[in-house]
Parts: sequence; structure tokens; C-alpha cells
Amino acid sequence: MELTLAPNQTPGLVCAHTHIYSALARGMPAPPGVPANFMGILELVWWRLDRALDADILYHSARLAALDALESGATALIDHHESPNFIEGSLSIIADAFAEVGVAVNTTYGVTDRHGPEGAAAGLAENDRFLSEGGKGMVGLHAAFTCEPDTIAAAAELANKHGVGVHVHVAEGDVDTWDDLEDLTADNWLLIHGVHLPDDHGLLGTMVHNPRSNMNNSVGYADPARFSNPVALGTDGIGSDMLDEFRLAFVKGRELDVTTTPDTAWGWLEAGWDLFPEAKNDRVTWNYELMDPWRLAYSTNVHPTQVEIGGEIVFANGAATKVDGAEIRAKAAEAAQRLFAKLEEMK
Ligand SMILES: [Zn+2]
Repeated sequence: MELTLAPNQTPGLVCAHTHIYSALARGMPAPPGVPANFMGILELVWWRLDRALDADILYHSARLAALDALESGATALIDHHESPNFIEGSLSIIADAFAEVGVAVNTTYGVTDRHGPEGAAAGLAENDRFLSEGGKGMVGLHAAFTCEPDTIAAAAELANKHGVGVHVHVAEGDVDTWDDLEDLTADNWLLIHGVHLPDDHGLLGTMVHNPRSNMNNSVGYADPARFSNPVALGTDGIGSDMLDEFRLAFVKGRELDVTTTPDTAWGWLEAGWDLFPEAKNDRVTWNYELMDPWRLAYSTNVHPTQVEIGGEIVFANGAATKVDGAEIRAKAAEAAQRLFAKLEEMK
């Protein structure tokens, strides 16, 4: 079914890579030291945050992320989750919180050997449980450099069993390797970042470009136009404002090549509908006429006025319709205080 869209409407936007668990991270206490490189950022920020997550914090984080997505016109998110001290059941908490708000989500547990073989086994089991129970997801791997070859092979096997792809960070920083992925990838895999991959890397799957995250982590420019893989756009956990991510993707390309046009980055945004076809039937009405790439590349303050997902109006007149946005924010603020206290204790 093709939607008939007015000039101020688009289908639902898709975020092809995010970390819903990080929605409460804004305002978190400063790390115990200033990270000097990408590994430092992982160790001092994200690998402390994920250890502090529990069921309650995750639930409030997920509801806030879903609300934030609605307010940005994103109707479908592809999530990569890690909470090493609370693994079993974690994916269902994310899925349930999103269903409450009415936003679609594909979520997966990022398996890793950073917490020993038991941690890797528990991550694989959570993916298997969620998919076996009919959850919408993939099989997650953190990244090849934190996984044993056997773990990577087990994830690929599990993905084949469920007929889904593997969702994995690849060559984000210069510490990562990808040799162990080479014989396993398939077209339904999601390869996140690819900053340090050679042009002819040979890996199959959709490459997901996250320009703001790459700049923020100072890992370099992925220059995704050089790959033969399909390319989609993600936020890597920094909200779900896909128009903003599109603008950044465009202007980063433009910085290096003035002949770059917005059509390239817009095509990456549209590739989200190949990954999450349901979103193409969603309808977002914007406070802006003529939703075309050249205009949007230079127009800020473009926001949805109404969002329809799966035929249901879930956002109207600046507010979510199925949930009380103010209540979600208040509960999220309380959960954030508890999270921040846990992080202070970990110093
Ligand atoms: Zn990521």
C-alpha cells in the first residue's frame, strides 16, 4: 500500500541504530577521568553506565526514548542493548515500554565476552528467548574486538536459526578488527559505523552511518558513500532526530566535497524503510511545507505536529496520545537520579 502524502507529510522516519538504554545518560556525572581516546570513552562512560542498569532504570529509559522518538517524527527504532548485570528479560522491558507509547522497535542484546563466557552465554540466551517468544529483533554482538571467535560464530548461528541478521558495531575505532566476521556476514546483517573499514572490505549487510556519534567520539569519518553496501542512518543513542542526523550526514560530506548534494544523505535516510518496512506506512505531519532534501538540509526547527503509527494517531497537538508525556518525564527524572547515584558509587 502506497500512502498518499501531503507536501508537509512523510512516512515515519527510521533510526537504524540506537542505544535506548542511554536515554537517561544526559546529565550523568562526569567520568572519573577525562577520556583521551575512543577506548577511554567506552571504559569511563558507556561501560560504567551499562553496568549500572537495572529493570526499573531500563523501563523508564525506554519510555523516555520512545516519547523522544515521537517528538522527532521517528516511528521505528533499531536498538542495540547491553545491561550486563540485568540480562534476562531486558529486551522485553524495552519492547513493552515502546508498545505502551506506540512506537515500533527492533531490539537486540549486544553479546560480548567482556564479562566472561557466562556473560556471553547469557546474552545469546536473551536474544534466543526474545526471538523465540515472537519479539521483533535481531541477534546482537557488541563488536568483534570484545568477542571470542566462538561467540561470534554462535551469534551468526543463532541469527540463522531465527531467520534474522546480526546487528554489530564494526571498525568504529582503530582498536576493532573484523577478520572473524568475514565468512559469516549476510545481506540481512547491520554493520554499524565501518569508519576504519577499507573500501573493499567484503562484508555483507547494510552499513549504518552515525555522523554525530563519530564526530563526538573523534573516531574519524566513515565516508559511507565509498562502500558498495546499502547505507542507512542512525543516532547511536543520541536521541532520534533523524532530520538532524540527515543534516549532519549531508554537511559532513559537503565539508570534504563541495559537490555533495543532500540527495545522498536523504537516500541513506530512505534506506531505513528497507530495514523497517512498516514505518513506510506510518504518516508524520510536519510544521513545514515541502519536505524535500534541499530545503530540509538548511531548515532547522522542523517538528512533527501529528504522528500516525500502524493506523493509530499516537501524537497530536504536540503531545503523545496513548501516554502522559509529563508523567514519563517525571518518572524518568527520578530514575535518572537513581542511576546517577549508582554511577557515583562506582567511582
Ligand atoms: Zn552503537
